Amino acid sequence: MDTQQMRNWFGSIVSFPSVVTEAESVQDIIAIVQNTEKYPSPVRAIGSNHSTTPCGVADNGTGVIMRKMNRVLDISADTVTAEAGALYIDVAKELQKHGLQFYVNVEIGNLTIGSTACGSTKDASMPGEFGQACSYAIALKMVTPSGEIVEITEEQPELLQAVRTSHGLFGIIYEATFRVKPLWSMAVHHETLSLDEFDEQLPTLKARGESMMMYIDPFLDTITVEFRRYREDKDPAKASSWQWKLRNLVWSTLAPYFSYTVTKYILVKRLRYLLIDTYNRLKSLTLVLGVRGENTVATAQMIRYPEKATNSRYTFSIWAFPEEEYMRSLRAYFRFCHEYYQSWGYRPNMMHVGYRISKDTSSLLSYSFDGNVITFDPVSTGDAGWEQFLVAYNNFVANMEARRCSIRSTLSQDGRSRRPLEIASVCSRDIENASTRRSAFLMSISSNS
Ligand SMILES: Cc1cc2nc3c(=O)[nH]c(=O)nc-3n(C[C@H](O)[C@H](O)[C@H](O)COP(=O)(O)OP(=O)(O)OC[C@H]3O[C@@H](n4cnc5c(N)ncnc54)[C@H](O)[C@@H]3O)c2cc1C
Repeated sequence: MDTQQMRNWFGSIVSFPSVVTEAESVQDIIAIVQNTEKYPSPVRAIGSNHSTTPCGVADNGTGVIMRKMNRVLDISADTVTAEAGALYIDVAKELQKHGLQFYVNVEIGNLTIGSTACGSTKDASMPGEFGQACSYAIALKMVTPSGEIVEITEEQPELLQAVRTSHGLFGIIYEATFRVKPLWSMAVHHETLSLDEFDEQLPTLKARGESMMMYIDPFLDTITVEFRRYREDKDPAKASSWQWKLRNLVWSTLAPYFSYTVTKYILVKRLRYLLIDTYNRLKSLTLVLGVRGENTVATAQMIRYPEKATNSRYTFSIWAFPEEEYMRSLRAYFRFCHEYYQSWGYRPNMMHVGYRISKDTSSLLSYSFDGNVITFDPVSTGDAGWEQFLVAYNNFVANMEARRCSIRSTLSQDGRSRRPLEIASVCSRDIENASTRRSAFLMSISSNS
């Protein structure tokens, strides 16, 4: 059977499925999984294909595009049910019309409901809430590899916990219900600190009880923190959205375009990075001075990236750290970035980001299962040297973690079997390095599917 080429949105991950087909109904999905001759294994559901890892690769198999199943089926006072191919941002806009919102309002609006329900996502946790969107998926309907229809609800908590981070390995989700909440006003503002100031003030910053997302720059020695909190005393009907439009413009359109252009055309590295540093300084200033408001809404922070990636595209990787050990890891990472640049002449050409995400046991592969975590995520336009940098970044974290693990397992006194590594990669290319226990789990479910 001939294969065809399928690329993820960014263009960095190529898959060669024998068949790519579109599902328009649950009957289509059943017909696909049952006809193994026409639709060879592996069968992979494809949402918006924005993943930065090969989790949707279907070499010699079948890619099932879900985007045509995109209806919002039901909105109640505290839930929304939608088909798997609906975009998160479209459902969020529909909820807003009903005075409702998702709990987790990830920056990327293009992810589909199906992948949200069964995959890892990241957003800074609002006070008392989770930062992973799948934790609010409370009912899923899926077609299993044998063509059976299965519905999983909160009545089967263990199954739900496993499916929430199954990445489609249990079957193709065609419908998902999420718990939602009333649309609330949200205040936002930014502050820029040096690494030392951030280290010193972190306990106080956390005690403010606001969500914390960070723009991190090891080369400027700056951390610009985005603080958000809900405000019950404001009317969301009067909320403004220009702040988020400005953020989305400087972060997701201008920044990658600028970095792409400068990296392509300015070959003298000192000049190239001087320009990138200047842009990043201006960006931090724009965030501090411009992206602030007492009455915005979380839905407005979502970005609808173009259907086809342009020169404004970017990609990233991510590791999460137990928050009590974050500063030590971040300091070591700043040093690592400088040393890597000195040795190899390469540095990520966009600002890093970071998220503070609450302890969350809602899914089996939750990366904050054991406690609150904070991440640092290199971001890049994917220029020459990025892939090698990611390998070094993964090795750097794994080596640091290996040391921490041996300390942790010695100190563990509760007798409970601890995760071998306290951190997990959401989008790491090297999941085996992330956790042997998680890998064993992944392998066991893949071999069953
Ligand atoms: C520019 C950019 C910015 C990003 N920003 C963020 C961010 O702020 N926060 C964040 O969390 N992520 C972010 N991401 C990552 C991205 O949002 C996630 O990878 C997300 O899963 C993509 O959703 P998708 O619909 O494109 O999934 P896909 O990439 O199509 O699929 C992801 C996985 O889910 C499976 N799957 C998809 N649909 C189904 C289904 N119906 N049933 C079963 N399995 C299914 C696939 O087989 C695959 O394994 C960003 C990515 C990019 C490129």
